[in-house]
Amino acid sequence: MQLHKPVISRPARGAALAFAGALLVSCADGAARGSSGAQNAKSESSATESFDAQRAWKHLEALVALGPRPAGSGASAATVDYLDKELRALGLAPVRESFVARGTPIGDLPMCNLYVDLPAKGPQADKAPLVIVGSHFDTKRFDQFRFVGANDGGSSTAVLLELARVLAAGGPRSVAYRLLFIDGEEAIRAHWQDPDNRYGSRHHAEQLRTSGLVARTKAFVLLDLVGDKDLRLERDQYSDAWLYECFAAPARAAGLGKHVDGRREPIADDHLSFLEIGVPSVDLIDFSYGPGNSWWHSPEDTLDKCSPQSLGVIGTIVLAGLPNVERRVLGK
Ligand SMILES: [Zn+2]
Repeated sequence: MQLHKPVISRPARGAALAFAGALLVSCADGAARGSSGAQNAKSESSATESFDAQRAWKHLEALVALGPRPAGSGASAATVDYLDKELRALGLAPVRESFVARGTPIGDLPMCNLYVDLPAKGPQADKAPLVIVGSHFDTKRFDQFRFVGANDGGSSTAVLLELARVLAAGGPRSVAYRLLFIDGEEAIRAHWQDPDNRYGSRHHAEQLRTSGLVARTKAFVLLDLVGDKDLRLERDQYSDAWLYECFAAPARAAGLGKHVDGRREPIADDHLSFLEIGVPSVDLIDFSYGPGNSWWHSPEDTLDKCSPQSLGVIGTIVLAGLPNVERRVLGK
């Protein structure tokens, strides 16, 4: 991901992205429910399991143990194998979405997204709204130092794996979920310069568009950089404010307010790929990592800067917020 200057227009949404003030627009559901938000979070999505931070942490340790995992590398393939194995162990059926990223700064690169679908319930299940929760799993390619991406690439992927366990255990819901593990988010070049970034999410968004599935896709929730011991989610200015509120409101109500409502910044990340095809999206990201963000994209991005507690906090916030998202996309 990358910090953008807040003077940008995007093709699909353009002026609709009014930055100033618009961020105070609340998620009607989340805000209106106020202090009961956390309770309500138990309704439709009532998970039979709660988020297990230690399980997530073990995933993170396993991912980091694979070493640097840049797109197109052997360690990247090993990462996909790990995700596939862990999801299958949950009784799920992950789908590999292989593709070749053409014309990257280092030539054509094989990449592979992986996703698992959790179907909705009922006879109209194949028409139910789809909510996608995603994380990139690649780490940025650095030649000058060893970059293992404990926080950047690792933490959110570990959390998404644990979310898969909890959401699958909760059984079918009124909406369908797709848990999307995204390859190739990072720029190949040192600096973020379009189109050298978001390879996997752009590919997946294009598949949604060409298959027509985009019409059912009502929200995209991105997790990124969620393992920092000092966890506080920014208020990304590209994200849909109502969708941010779906998570921030129950977080505040549950006493986790210090972990949300961080700085307002325009952050370029995988959610832009979904915004570009008209899918409401939010980036749940803590883009303040170490003094002056100095641990980001540095050899300092290691396990000791992260904590199981933070993985637990973000897991709890996501699980508390998804029922609000469900109500919104169902028009309730
Ligand atoms: Zn990064």
